[in-house]
Formats: sequence, C-alpha cells, structure tokens
Amino acid sequence: MNRFCPKCGKEIKEEEMINNFCINCYLKDNDIIIIPEIEIIFCVKCNRIRYTNKWYDNLEDIERDIAKHIKVKDIPKSKILVKLDLDFEKNNYTAKIIVKTIISGTFKNIEKDVDVVVKKDTCVVCSRIAGNYYTTILQIRFNDKKLQKILSPKIYSEIESIKNSLNSRSAKPSANLHIVKEVKQKTGFDLYLDNLKLAYNLVQHLMKHKTAINFNTSKTLVGLNKEGQRTYRTTFAVHFGNKEKS
Ligand SMILES: [Zn+2]
Ligand SMILES: [Zn+2]
Repeated sequence: MNRFCPKCGKEIKEEEMINNFCINCYLKDNDIIIIPEIEIIFCVKCNRIRYTNKWYDNLEDIERDIAKHIKVKDIPKSKILVKLDLDFEKNNYTAKIIVKTIISGTFKNIEKDVDVVVKKDTCVVCSRIAGNYYTTILQIRFNDKKLQKILSPKIYSEIESIKNSLNSRSAKPSANLHIVKEVKQKTGFDLYLDNLKLAYNLVQHLMKHKTAINFNTSKTLVGLNKEGQRTYRTTFAVHFGNKEKS
C-alpha cells in the first residue's frame, strides 16, 4: 500500500519512509548526514590535490578520507561513500555523499549532493621547482667515457628509484627529495636537489654500486639566513668508473 508524504504530498512506498515522511523531506528537516565543508587545494602544476593537511595523488584516497569526516545519526549500520565530481574546466565542483543504510529492514541509499570549495594554487614542491630552489648539488662523475655511456642512464634511473623509495616513507611532499634542475656535464651530470639529508642518504645508496669509487663533499657559503646565521649549499661529487684507473 502506498502512502503520501504529509509534507510534500509525494506518493511513497512503505520502505521509502522514515517516520512517515519521504526520505527527502525527512532529510531536509533532520540533519541525519552531517557533512563539514569540503575544501580542497588543487595544484595547477602537478594536479595533486590537498585535503586537510595531506596531498593526494588520486581521488579515491581523498574520497575515503572525506568519508571519515562525515557523521551519520538517527539511522543504523550506515556505510558512507563519497564520489567527487571535479570539473576544472567548467569550475564546477561537487561531491555526492551516499549513505548506505537499512531503513525498516530494507537496504537504502541516501544521497546528498554538496558543493566542494576548490582553491587553485601551486604546491610547495612545484613552486620550488619553478623557482629553482635547491640546497644540494649532486655531481655524478665517470672516469671512463665508455663506461659513462653505458652507466649514465642506469645511474640516473637508479637515483630516481632510490629517491622514490626514500620519499615513500613520508606523506609530506615538502619534506621529500626532488630534482629541481638537471645539468649535463662532459664527464657526467649534475642534479640540483632540495633536501640535504635525503641527498646524503641517496649518496650512501649510490656508493653501494659496484662501480662507485668514492665521493667527496664540499660546502659553499650562500649567504645569511633571517637569524643572521651563515647558510651553506652542499655539493656531493660521486665518482664512478674503472677502479684500476683511479
Ligand atoms: Zn516529502
Ligand atoms: Zn604541485
């Protein structure tokens, strides 16, 4: 038997009612789903998205974390799903909140659409790269031309993978290691890096390479910081090649 919602007059099935009202009217008058304002920052350079204090590479992870901030009351056993719909070309940003629940013994999805506040910006990492900000120079040098040709791309991709594994330990992109600039040299290449500590870790990893001969460290005074202390830029030079030649 169908009934009518006393508020909007819509015909409703028994299983679609909450306290005799249609779900829509009941939701309008009662805050069952409590959704805090969803505000994200979109990096226009790398397309990563920041929500709360974290940067995300994919929407699924953000959606899962947004769901954790949503509260549901008055209805039992609810599961919360969030679907973001971010249209950066049309500047149209919404989120569909789906609460899966059981009302009068029937599974029911309650949906609510909310606006998402999007701020477009450049993340710390991208602005460093754009501004060529670096603290450390890593010089990769080969003492043998033939070896350089073979090894150079290998060492480069090794650096990439070491960098990625060092960075995967931290969720904070600004504390990670990035290559902000690359310069080709006659006997190797230079990488400009933004994290001294991780650059040193990287050097230690590289030294395990069987063709690694040695490395040396030098410091250049670059100026004074706000507190008047001297600031230095560190250069690591890692030498690869035939051991008998050096
Ligand atoms: Zn109604
Ligand atoms: Zn970025």
